Parts: sequence; C-alpha cells; structure tokens
Amino acid sequence: MDQIKEQIGREVASLARDLFAISDFLKANPETAYQEFKACEHLSQVLDAKGFRVQKGVGNVATSFLARPSDCQPSRPTVAFLAEYDALPKIGHGCGHNLIAAASLGAAIVLKLILGNEAGGVAVVGTPAEEGGGGKVRLTEAGIFDEMDVAMMFHPGQLNIPGKDMLGRIKFKMEFIGRSAHASGSPDRGINALDAMVSAYSSINAVRQHLRPDGRIHGIITHGGDAPNIIPDYAAGLFYVRAGSRSYRDEIFERVKKCVQGAALAIGAESKIEIDLPKLDSMKRNAVLEAAIRANMEALGISIDADDGRRGSSDIGNLSHYLPAMHPVLAIVGSEVAGHSVEFCEATTTDRGRETLLNAAKLLAMTAYDYLSSADFRKQVAEDFKRSD
Ligand SMILES: [Zn+2]
Ligand SMILES: [Zn+2]
Repeated sequence: MDQIKEQIGREVASLARDLFAISDFLKANPETAYQEFKACEHLSQVLDAKGFRVQKGVGNVATSFLARPSDCQPSRPTVAFLAEYDALPKIGHGCGHNLIAAASLGAAIVLKLILGNEAGGVAVVGTPAEEGGGGKVRLTEAGIFDEMDVAMMFHPGQLNIPGKDMLGRIKFKMEFIGRSAHASGSPDRGINALDAMVSAYSSINAVRQHLRPDGRIHGIITHGGDAPNIIPDYAAGLFYVRAGSRSYRDEIFERVKKCVQGAALAIGAESKIEIDLPKLDSMKRNAVLEAAIRANMEALGISIDADDGRRGSSDIGNLSHYLPAMHPVLAIVGSEVAGHSVEFCEATTTDRGRETLLNAAKLLAMTAYDYLSSADFRKQVAEDFKRSD
C-alpha cells in the first residue's frame, strides 16, 4: 500500500477513542430530523478542537454546519465529507447515522493532520435530516456545495459494497372530496369519497403489476369516513412512488395521477394531490470513484459482497446529480438484522460496529487522498459524471 495510505491507517487507529466517543454521544442523544441541536454542537466542538473553523447553521438550516481547516485557505479541488447525524423517532440511531458522522469526521481530521498546510481541499458538511427531511437538498439549493468537487460518505448496513443504486422518490398525499348524506335515508344525495379512494387504490394496484422491477408504489389510506351511517365526504391517503431514474419516477407518478383523477371522475368526486417536497432523485453512481473504493476496500482486507438488490432512497441522490458522490456500504450486521431497528442501533457500538467505523474512516480518507493527489483520477471521475443518468 501507498505510504500515505498506510499513514492514514495508523492515524485513524490512534484516533479510535475519539471516534468511538462521537458515535457513543450521538447514540446516547438521538435527535430526529432538523432537531439535531446537540449533535451539531458536539460535532462542531470536536472539529474545533482538532483545528477546524466551524460555521453552524449554514444554508439556512439551523442544525447544519460547514467545517474547514482553520490554518489554511480553502482550495480546489475540495472533498466534502458528509456527516449525517439524525436519528429515527422512537428507535434512535437505528439507521446508524452516528457511525456516518464519526467516520466522516475521522477521515477529515486524519487528512488534515497528514496534509498539514496543504489541507485546504478538506471540508466536512453536517447534513441534517436525511430521514424524510432532505437536508442535503436544502444545502445544495443554498449553494453550500458550489465550492466543492466531490462528496463522500459511507453508510453502515448488512453488506460490504462499493456502491449501490438508490431510487428516486415522490411522497404525496391524495384526497377525495365528495358530499355527505344519510347513508340509509338519502343515499342518492351523497357522493362517496371513500369509494373514489378505493377505486383509485385498485387502479394503482393494476398499474403496479406492469412496472419495471425498479418501480415501486406503496401507500396507505389515512382517512375513510367518520361514521358508517354517513356517506363519507372526505377520504385521504399517503403514498410513495419510487424508481431507479428521475424520468421513470416522474412517469409512474403521472400514471398514479391518472388513477386518482379517473376514480374521482367515475364517482363524481373531486380529487387533490399534494407533493411533499423535496422529491428525491435516484443515485447517480460514479464508476471511477467506485473502482477506487473497491481497491481501497481490498487494501483494507474487507471482503466485498454481491449486491442483494435491496433498494431505498436518500437525499444524497439529489446531490449526486450536482457533483460526483459516493455512498459505499460497510457491514455492521448480517442479513438477519433489519435496518431501522433497535438491533441495528445496538450494533453500532459492538466490536464489529467499532471495527467498521475505523474501516469507514480509513476508506473515506484513502479515497479522498486518491482524488486530491491525482489530476488524472479527477479527470476520469469528471468524465464519468458527464454521462446522462
Ligand atoms: Zn434510514
Ligand atoms: Zn441512513
């Protein structure tokens, strides 16, 4: 292995206690989307003590931060290490974002130490509210990534893989407005909003049968009336549409809209659809970055698994269309443990969880070093990024 990469390994190992302390603090103080005040404060303090200048609340997001080495001017190219630190309601860090924050800080601290006054291309961006809030979308729109060239983070999971597809997503509410009437005395005067909802639900099921494998539609009926002897004048549901590309996501959404409009027309009700912004984009993967991640994983002795094809969505998808981004997954549990669970949260501080945290910090720092030290590598990353999604 390259001398600098060996040094990265040693420096991360000697920072281990600090990184475990970050992860433990976040785990003990879980905060949900946009409420991560303690986390933001704690991470800022750690970075400050390690020689970073930290701005909190950047991009008009109160719990975000941007950290740069305090002893050198920001320079290009810049690597943005992304720190997620939001938890899930009720189950705390069941998505393991405490490890994401600790690994990204670890990579940035170690690179700064090694590069000294040449570390102007190192940045840490604290990106709140990955779970449902789209913090990275807001920070991107606010221009926080305008002076950066590549975004790096890892996510803990059940497999070791350099990258995976993530689905674009639209979250929306559908509503039907009918007319109430006595269900027995004057049914002829009513317009049944629940019937419209059920009809739309059935049509959506029919559409689902003919989607490509990467297409998803899932949802629930949240309101179907108030009393069985009143014709429901209002029905509502919450739905998600997802797909492997932005265009296919939008195409499925248009088909669902027709199901809703058609159902309303048939029943004589009115319909409304309201999108819960932001829309999430599919992940634009970068083959050149992923090849480097793979090589660094191998150098670290991490055995690489086959992708299991399980797909979710994340706000890094949107960012990955703005600049090249990477999102490898490193295992802290086996396939028997589900993500978003109490067991997964507990796994973040087991011996395996801790070992993965150190590997993640090494992997991020090594891949960032590949990027910062080679103009040719950066050119290849940029070429791959140019292709359309
Ligand atoms: Zn999650
Ligand atoms: Zn997550």
